[in-house]
Amino acid sequence: MRCPFCRHEDTRVVDSRVADEGQAIRRRRSCTECGRRFTTVESAVLAVVKRNGVTEPFSREKVMRGVRRACQGRAVDEDRLALLAQQVEDTVRASGSAEIPSNEVGLAILTPLRELDEVAYLRFASVYRSFESVEDFQREIDDLRAAGHVGAGSGGQGVDRA
Ligand SMILES: [Zn+2]
Repeated sequence: MRCPFCRHEDTRVVDSRVADEGQAIRRRRSCTECGRRFTTVESAVLAVVKRNGVTEPFSREKVMRGVRRACQGRAVDEDRLALLAQQVEDTVRASGSAEIPSNEVGLAILTPLRELDEVAYLRFASVYRSFESVEDFQREIDDLRAAGHVGAGSGGQGVDRA
């Protein structure tokens, strides 16, 4: 890392700390030539490619916003939403790609959301997968039943209340 003041090529790390909940490392560096100090931030780049080809940085807040809408009226608190957004980020980062198509982000949301709340899951899936008929819903509900989700606890809230 080159010194931004004197362009000397050798700098020393004097302090290193985790920032942004573990997503970044902030380093305080000292130039071995001029002695001046500066800070660098290191983080893995993760971009979401939208359908129109535009890329934007992955945002946990944006994931939470989308899921929050699907969770309206459901017993899902902000902590659970934050945890889900973290799971989604872990999933897309685990793909090992620096650029993730937005539909893969949507897919990464569906799995943990299904565990969290099946009504919110159905709502989100209906938009995300463009459900067009009652049959589309019925198929999802059958899948949920087959997976043992519906009626199997989760606070006694079945899909009937959707
Ligand atoms: Zn320097």
